[in-house]
Amino acid sequence: MSTVKIKEYPDAIWFKTICDCTHNDCTQTIAIEQDKDLNGAITIQLYNNIYLRAYYEKWYKNLWRRIKLAFRILFIGWIEMEGDIILRGEDIKSYFTALETAYTNLQRSTGNDK
Ligand SMILES: [Zn+2]
Repeated sequence: MSTVKIKEYPDAIWFKTICDCTHNDCTQTIAIEQDKDLNGAITIQLYNNIYLRAYYEKWYKNLWRRIKLAFRILFIGWIEMEGDIILRGEDIKSYFTALETAYTNLQRSTGNDK
């Protein structure tokens, strides 16, 4: 089971998912919260490290890309990047079961299951 619950509160549940490559830098933390200010809507926050992929790029091109991204964060405040986590077989089920469990538990604990 690669997705495990690490903390549960009446209005929030936290999970950790371990990537199939088993590298700690790929581990993803999932925070699922029921937001009373949003009429009980559920928010999902994903935390994981994201890296610039530069396998086939010359070092100076990679450096220039990093500088441009740093300036974008500095002056605009955000960038778009992609991250991934690899799941196989039972790990896929485990991930979705965690999401389903969070939904069920949050609905029950906040009384939104009626
Ligand atoms: Zn990985």
